[in-house]
Amino acid sequence: MTFSIHGLAVARGIAIGRAVLMAGRVDVAHYFIDAGQVEAEIARVRDGRNAVIDEIHRLQQTITAMGPKEAPHELGALLDVHLMLLQDEDLVEGVKRWITERLYNAEWALMTQLELLSRQFDEMEDEYLRERKADLEQVAERILRYMKGVASPIPPPSAARRSSPARQQDMLLTDDSVDVPLVLVAHDLSPADMLQFKQSVFAGFVTDVGGKTSHTAIVARSMDIPAVVGTRSGSQLVRQDDWVIIDGDAGVMIVDPSPIILAEYGFKQRQGELERGRLARLRHTPAVTMDGQKIELLANIEMPEDAAAALNAGAVGVGLFRSEFLFMGRNKGDTPGEEEQYQAYKRAIEGMQGLPVTIRTIDVGADKPLDAAMRDDTHLNPALGLRAIRWSLADPAMFLTQLRAILRAAVHGKVSLLVPMLAHASEIRQTVSLVDFARAELDNRGVTYGPVELGAMIEIPAAALTLKTFLKYFDFLSIGTNDLIQYTLAIDRADESVAHLYDPLHPAVLNLVAQTIAECNAQGKGVSVCGEMAGDTTFTRLLLGLGLRSFSMHPAQILAVKQEVLRADVQRLAPWAQQVIAAEDPSALIG
Ligand code: PEP
Ligand code: MG
Repeated sequence: MTFSIHGLAVARGIAIGRAVLMAGRVDVAHYFIDAGQVEAEIARVRDGRNAVIDEIHRLQQTITAMGPKEAPHELGALLDVHLMLLQDEDLVEGVKRWITERLYNAEWALMTQLELLSRQFDEMEDEYLRERKADLEQVAERILRYMKGVASPIPPPSAARRSSPARQQDMLLTDDSVDVPLVLVAHDLSPADMLQFKQSVFAGFVTDVGGKTSHTAIVARSMDIPAVVGTRSGSQLVRQDDWVIIDGDAGVMIVDPSPIILAEYGFKQRQGELERGRLARLRHTPAVTMDGQKIELLANIEMPEDAAAALNAGAVGVGLFRSEFLFMGRNKGDTPGEEEQYQAYKRAIEGMQGLPVTIRTIDVGADKPLDAAMRDDTHLNPALGLRAIRWSLADPAMFLTQLRAILRAAVHGKVSLLVPMLAHASEIRQTVSLVDFARAELDNRGVTYGPVELGAMIEIPAAALTLKTFLKYFDFLSIGTNDLIQYTLAIDRADESVAHLYDPLHPAVLNLVAQTIAECNAQGKGVSVCGEMAGDTTFTRLLLGLGLRSFSMHPAQILAVKQEVLRADVQRLAPWAQQVIAAEDPSALIG
């Protein structure tokens, strides 16, 4: 039966595929194996299972030797249940099927089967049996742990397995094909999880939690695949392998679509492809308004390798390299050293082939934990806590390492250094002196480094209200509207339950943005917007009218924004923009 699940639209386009449910764990590898490797993968699971069975047998013997006084009876019963589950053919046969028919790697196949069986347990009437789900999870966890120690003989391929809409239509007819597109459905994904999926096989994704500008959504946008977040309990309504449609424009997932709905969305998908093709022709067109104003369209990137997509989209530079992604998905407490960071920045700079690159210093905390262990459940308001520059200033050795790496990389191109989340003059002064100190350290070591322009992000209202201080110390400012909106309106950007109040067009937000642009323009200092507003065509004319000439966004959004720029006449937009920011309800004036 067809039904729809509603959430928030975060990344445009239509994806049609089979659901891959990610039940909690995303740290297992997900990749496709070659047909010739099926037996080896099945053997890995079988060996893992046998090893766990042996382990349980050994434990049972120990318990028997201890006698009933020392080893409670329940422990023996529990081990019996685990053994029974391990020997259950449904588990083993199911895993084999995912490997043989879908060519999933062993871990992925195990997790998929676990999810399927868990749902069956959930539906059981008998409470005792229902509770055995936890045992099943423990058993799978043990097998996984064993398999971790036995590395897969196959490295995960990096090529994304995406199909053209026409190919997808074919596959709907013969959907047992190994080539079926897959859509990831999860309760939650951290930005680090998303990073893992950047080179992955998924054609789209849906999560229960998250807001439009949560970092998970931002990474999805950078992957340029349709995505919906904030479906609340959507993942519980979908079954493993269901056919689903993700409509990233409307923020809807359609489960088990009828043939008529499939045909309709197949058509929409092809229309989208045609539109992309049309926009692609603008790639080499200079971004100049109808009245001759040159507009700078820059790219936001997360990894050095994203530079290729930036160039491909016709970006004239990188306006925001979110360097924190270099620090994520590593072992706890392990941060990249100076040389590793230097090499990464150098790759990004060289990847941009002489175009300018703005590297933002690390911005972790709140919804961007370095690793799962850093997830901040201990503080009531992590978004107001030790985040971004506060984190850097609390650990000067780590910060200096990053500053030295950026300064060294600046030898290879035009580099700017951007500092997030500043609010206090004391933080500004500390930051500036640490940059000087990093230079002095390199001088002492006799290491060469390049010149950098120093910029600050305006993303806390306090910063937007004390621009004089910022402009005294910085060469340029970059407005982080994602956080500026969050902190002005007191709305957690990652919380879907207040997403309806997260309003970029609130007059307070618009006035802070307008003042920042006007003040920088008046003083001849560079200013850009690098939050999601910059890449949303709804706001392009307004920002142009407010005097903005530099926009930084995901590469996938550049051509659509360029199209708006080419149609704009900023002389005429300027008075209209002033009316908009003075209005009680600016959204009524934005067409
Ligand atoms: C912003 O806050 O607008 C921004 C660009 O930074 P981030 O989204 O990484 O917090
Ligand atoms: Mg920010």
